[in-house]
Amino acid sequence: MDSKRINLSEQTARKWLKERGVTTQDIAELVMYLQSAYHENLSIDECLHNVERVLSKREVQNAILTGIQLDMLAEKKMLEEPLQSIISTDEGLYGVDEILAFSIVNVYGSIGFTNYGFIDKQKPGILQKLNDKSSGECHTFLDDIVGAIAAAASSRLAHRAVNAE
Ligand code: MG
Repeated sequence: MDSKRINLSEQTARKWLKERGVTTQDIAELVMYLQSAYHENLSIDECLHNVERVLSKREVQNAILTGIQLDMLAEKKMLEEPLQSIISTDEGLYGVDEILAFSIVNVYGSIGFTNYGFIDKQKPGILQKLNDKSSGECHTFLDDIVGAIAAAASSRLAHRAVNAE
């Protein structure tokens, strides 16, 4: 695979996140929410740095591109049934949105799964906004993706902290 396409994946993943209303700052705030109790003097810049590192991973970019693409197609009513209804109503038993997000959490090992489960239940910050079904937007995949990026960045941060001690 040529480097041009690798670059395009990262650029597009970052662009789409932004266009769908999610900034790296939003995700860094989720990392802060998850990790501030465990690290003294944790700065938002350090959280942001870990989010950036997670976004530079190909597996993560692939998950972002795939998930957001499906959200966008569902919003435009361009999917075939029954998938159109399943994704546009965020049907509870679908589960593929979570499976896709696991490919992000997986990048930094199993500690990320605990963080992911926790943040998915609590839905702080940007996650609450993405879950607001009254907006007419479809974020069935994006909410899980954003939670997973925050969980992965938290794991990365935790691993680094242990190594530094
Ligand atoms: Mg979802």
